[in-house]
Amino acid sequence: MFNKLSFKIGLLFFVFILIIETFLFFILYANLANDRIEEVMNSLLARGNTHRDVLEDHFDQPTLEHVGIMESASEFIVIITDEYGDIIISSDPVEDDMMDVVKYVNNDEIPTEGKIVDDQWNEGKYIATDSPITINGEHKGHVFMFAKTSYVIKTVDKLSNQFLIASLVTVVLTIVTIFILSRFIAHPLIKMKEATEQLSKGKHNVELHTERKDELGELANSISKLSKDLKELKMARNEFLASVAHELRTPLTYIKGYADIINRPDTSEEEIKEYVNIIREETEQLTILIKNLFQLAKIDHNNFLIRRERVEICEFLQNIVERIRPALAEKEVLLYVNCSKVAALIDPERFQQVLINVLDNAKKHSYEGSKILIKVEQTDQHIIITTIDEGEGIPEQDLPYIFDRLYRVEKSRSRKSGGAGLGLAITKEIVEFHGGSIEVESKLGEGTSVIITLARDDQNE
Ligand code: ATP
Ligand code: MG
Repeated sequence: MFNKLSFKIGLLFFVFILIIETFLFFILYANLANDRIEEVMNSLLARGNTHRDVLEDHFDQPTLEHVGIMESASEFIVIITDEYGDIIISSDPVEDDMMDVVKYVNNDEIPTEGKIVDDQWNEGKYIATDSPITINGEHKGHVFMFAKTSYVIKTVDKLSNQFLIASLVTVVLTIVTIFILSRFIAHPLIKMKEATEQLSKGKHNVELHTERKDELGELANSISKLSKDLKELKMARNEFLASVAHELRTPLTYIKGYADIINRPDTSEEEIKEYVNIIREETEQLTILIKNLFQLAKIDHNNFLIRRERVEICEFLQNIVERIRPALAEKEVLLYVNCSKVAALIDPERFQQVLINVLDNAKKHSYEGSKILIKVEQTDQHIIITTIDEGEGIPEQDLPYIFDRLYRVEKSRSRKSGGAGLGLAITKEIVEFHGGSIEVESKLGEGTSVIITLARDDQNE
């Protein structure tokens, strides 16, 4: 439990909020308590002043006694002295603490509006005020008012109690709020943790339904997307494996079939020769297929190194053209190269594979006697190599898939057209490894253009 995120967040919040609350409460309490004490003191002084006002009007025995009687019934104490400081009347028995105040008051220091002369509410027994009596400019005596400090302490205590209750309520509310809040944050995280565990166990379709638009919502959506992607990836892998199995099985079936025929006693010498040739062809195709698959696997594992060097494109093309010309001549296809002098940073061996794949496709799908053009152009930043054939073209609905592995427009695997559908997939990977891009434009019955765009080597000139 102590390791749980919700607990950690909650505890952190709680400590912080508690510190802030304590601090604020302390300031508020100190202010309020001071106000209360001041209020009590001022009202004591005002009471004394009132008595003093009455006495200034009627400074006689009955009035003095009247004031004394009045205060004897209240919780305050009044002591009235004459101009020499001798006590004329007091409402309650005079204690030593009171005498201390009465004796040591220096008349010169007391203004006519009176003064708080003892405000030590938390130390002494009384607090005291003094209101001097002045009649016709002549000093006549003092009205001392006393209030028990316990009276002040009582009001402060009441305040303390209120604060204690308020603090407790606040702490409880804080805990509840933090608990809810931390659950609010931790709950989706727990859900996501469970979801990723499910994912790693191989379960797909992990849906995290969330309406949240915050970071947690985004995370949940990412996990949902991840699970979808994983599912798609797994499906693609299964599909791919099935296709590979199919691709391998077909030639193997041929090989076995022809081998069986060869083994029959009635097979003529000539037939045997022919079938052995077919077996060899099929074996070669199988070897190429496996080599290509292996190359793609290497690409997928990023186990694929390209060694770039500065290559003069025209020379490079010329070499390739010479290599494939015999195969083209066999089909009476004419090849033209339209080249401007330009260099690129490429891996010549890999890029040769790219062009041979593309030209092999062009040848395979060209009609006898048609033309293929290779065009090299350059812009400020790019080199564009385009091969244009006048062959049968690619149906529009197939165009988006021709770079997919094992995808062929002609689904039947005739021995004549041969390919496994890996050529363009490998080509695309290699071009992209070079930081370039490849596109195909095609019109059924009119021909196909393959456009390869590469970055220019800046030291061209
Ligand atoms: P592989 O290259 O592995 O021997 P392949 O040539 O069938 O097999 P890709 O080179 O990947 O496979 O091409 C995929 C498909 O795209 C081909 O089967 C073909 O139908 C179509 N295609 C590619 N280039 C052309 C083209 N120039 N003209 C018409 N169709 C093409
Ligand atoms: Mg091909």
